[in-house]
This record gives sequence, structure tokens and C-alpha cells, in this order.
Amino acid sequence: MKPPRFDYLVPTSLDEALALLGQHGEEAKVLAGGQSLVPLLNFRLVRPAHLVDLNEIRGLDQIRADDGHLVIGAMARQRAVETSTLIRERCPLLAEAMPQIGHVQIRNRGTFGGSLAHADPAAELPAVVAALGGEIVLQSARGRRRLSADQFFVGYLTTAAEPTELLVEVKLPVTPRRTGSAFLEVSRRHGDFALVGVATTLTLDDRGVCTACSVALTGVGPTPVLARDAARALVGGPPSPQAIEEVGRRVSQGLRPDSDLHASSEYRKDVAGVLTRRALARAAERARGESR
Ligand SMILES: Cc1cc2nc3c(=O)[nH]c(=O)nc-3n(C[C@H](O)[C@H](O)[C@H](O)COP(=O)(O)OP(=O)(O)OC[C@H]3O[C@@H](n4cnc5c(N)ncnc54)[C@H](O)[C@@H]3O)c2cc1C
Repeated sequence: MKPPRFDYLVPTSLDEALALLGQHGEEAKVLAGGQSLVPLLNFRLVRPAHLVDLNEIRGLDQIRADDGHLVIGAMARQRAVETSTLIRERCPLLAEAMPQIGHVQIRNRGTFGGSLAHADPAAELPAVVAALGGEIVLQSARGRRRLSADQFFVGYLTTAAEPTELLVEVKLPVTPRRTGSAFLEVSRRHGDFALVGVATTLTLDDRGVCTACSVALTGVGPTPVLARDAARALVGGPPSPQAIEEVGRRVSQGLRPDSDLHASSEYRKDVAGVLTRRALARAAERARGESR
């Protein structure tokens, strides 16, 4: 299939891109890595009158440390995030999740911001950003606003971004000392979207007591699911196998995933519980410095 006709617009600055979006609104779509948008165009599932290509805008692809945060520009290629030493050292959860996204050819073109903006319910990055308490920065000609993952992801392939807004960067807090994290997923074949995936972080104090824990899941609902109440059960005591088992049980119980062609609701609930247990056990080992 070929896409329907559109005007192809190539701004060379962020201001120019925002002005074009302000002018064309819902009639426009932005093109980042094209790994999701181009198939949608070719199948004629989206029919924008104007396509605004972000690839000639300089500076939107930076990965940098800034005042206790890591800042990842929307146009940073997924492969650049995967291979960044800064990310590996300061945000190991993200580094661990990156190779699970499709195949290397896809990550060479696909962007960090594109994956979040596309908001596929089985994508890895939305769950990672949710688990890390990241902020998603949106900009329009009128200014900037910052949203949490809860505020940004509103439904299946749907975000809170207005048609006139661009996702420009994501701010992730640098992982604190004595924090372990782990990302695990189950998919049918390597490179497939996750049937279920889980991103966890766990922080210990000097006595080995858990002071913070987060569990975010993908593939179990229309948006990433942040299992706040279940994760809270681990805080205030050591992350013993029994305590971790209890979190896994609560996560599984709290989910209401749909059944589909790929897996039943019950299967996804079970797998979510098992993956949560395994990921938290691994995160606890890493927080204690027992494994990498
Ligand atoms: C074979 C295959 C396997 C894949 N497997 C996985 C996988 O396992 N896990 C996974 O997470 N993904 C997977 N993907 C998707 C891949 O990660 C895409 O790169 C990603 O979903 C979209 O990023 P992109 O940069 O290509 O965005 P594009 O395809 O260019 O855009 C996607 C959507 O986001 C919008 N958009 C893009 N950037 C912005 C921005 N800065 N501001 C506002 N809106 C924006 C576009 O308008 C469009 O609606 C796979 C893709 C393919 C083709």
C-alpha cells in the first residue's frame, strides 16, 4: 500500500516546527523515526494533510545529565539510548529495557520520544518512565508543560498531548545510591512486543530496609500500569522472599487485562505476578550489591 497524499514539511528549528503545528493542528502529524507512523500511513490508518518531519531539527536528540536528572531528547534514537554510557551508569533500568524493543534495525531509526508519543500499550518505554517517576515535557508555541506518566498516557495509543504540542524531552531522576532495578518481559519471539513486561526499582537503607519501591507493567492494560499499592507493601522492611512474593500476588490480583489473540487475561495476570517476583528479587540483589 502507498500512503495518501500529504504535504511534506521539513522544519529546521523547534520554533518552526511548533509554528507549523500551531498552524495545521489536527491536520498535521509529526514524523520521528517512522517505525510506527510509516506503516500506519501505508495502511491508510492515518491520513494527515501535512507531515512535519522532525529529523532536520538540531539538538532534539541530546542525552545529558542536568541537576540530578537525566534528560533525554525526544529525537534521541533508541539505539543511542541503549549504547549511552551515561544511561548505563545512571539509569540501569532503562539500559536493561532498551534491547527488548524490536530489533536493532528498528532501534537505529526509532526514537525515544516517538515510542512514548505512540503510546503502544505493550511498549517497554512507557512502563520504564512510569517506574522511574519520569517527567514528559511537552512544548507548543504557547510554552512548556511537564506531565507524569500517569497524566501523559490516557488510553490505547492515546496521550494527553495536544495536536499543537511536541514531546520535546523526558526528565528521569538519577537512580539513588543502594538502588537496584530490573526489567523483565515475556514475548513470543525475541523482538516482538511484550505479552507482559515489568519494570521495578527498589532502594535500601544502610540496614537493608526497603525505603522505596516501584513496579510498573506493560501489556496488561491500555496504558502502563503503576502498581503503587502493591509496591508499597515492600517499604519499611527487608525485601525478603515472602515480602516479594506478597507484592507479586497483589500485582496479579489488582490487574484486569483484556484477553486477545496473543494471550488470555488469566495468563497475563499470572505472568505479571511471576515477573514482578523475579524482577524484585533481582532488583534486591542488585541493591545489596550481590549482582549486576
Ligand atoms: C517490526 C517492529 C517491531 C517493533 N517492536 C517494538 C517493541 O518490541 N517494543 C516497542 O516499544 N516498540 C516496538 N516497535 C515500535 C518502535 O519502537 C517505534 O520506533 C516507536 O513506537 C515509534 O517511534 P518512532 O520514532 O519510529 O516514531 P514515529 O513512527 O515517527 O511516530 C509514532 C507516533 O508518534 C508521534 N510522534 C513521534 N515523535 C513525536 C514527538 N516528539 N512529539 C509528538 N508526537 C510524536 C507521531 O506523530 C506518530 O503518531 C516496533 C516497530 C517495528 C516496525
